[in-house]
Amino acid sequence: MSFLTKYIKSFTLFELMKGMALTLRYFFKPKVTINYPNQKGPLSPRFRGEHALRRYPNGEERCIACKLCEAVCPAQAITIEAEPKPDGSRRTTRYDIDMTKCIYCGLCQEACPVDAIVEGPNFEYATETREELLYDKEKLLRNGDIWENQISENIRRDSKFR
Ligand code: SF4
Ligand code: SF4
Repeated sequence: MSFLTKYIKSFTLFELMKGMALTLRYFFKPKVTINYPNQKGPLSPRFRGEHALRRYPNGEERCIACKLCEAVCPAQAITIEAEPKPDGSRRTTRYDIDMTKCIYCGLCQEACPVDAIVEGPNFEYATETREELLYDKEKLLRNGDIWENQISENIRRDSKFR
């Protein structure tokens, strides 16, 4: 660049004007950021968030205590204990997930033959203590009750790709 061109550019604040023009151009474009948590972005039906145990519409637990999820979990985060009920069906007496170990791989929900354990759409479950991330069966069933509508809708939307 010649001395004269440099001099003219410095004198007219060319670089500054160029930067301001770029700012002005993006000022009127649609914003890519959102005002979280008041606004939330779209989530895929395959999103793997907080775990939940689901029930059938009549309130019966889906889980049949087959322990496939416990066996497949690579992080060994799931602990299940089970015993037969008076009617002969198997149900869990204990279903714990240590969410501090979980790597959100989704293998538990893939292994489940009755769509009982799922990773739901909730991603807002940060805690202040480690203990709050040790989920028991009651907590997981409660999650299922809270998120059932969205979970079943996500399973329906994803079913044509399976
Ligand atoms: S998502 Fe993966 S790591 Fe987490 S509990 Fe399920 S199988 Fe285990
Ligand atoms: S959640 Fe599913 S895979 Fe796990 S024990 Fe229950 S039925 Fe079996």
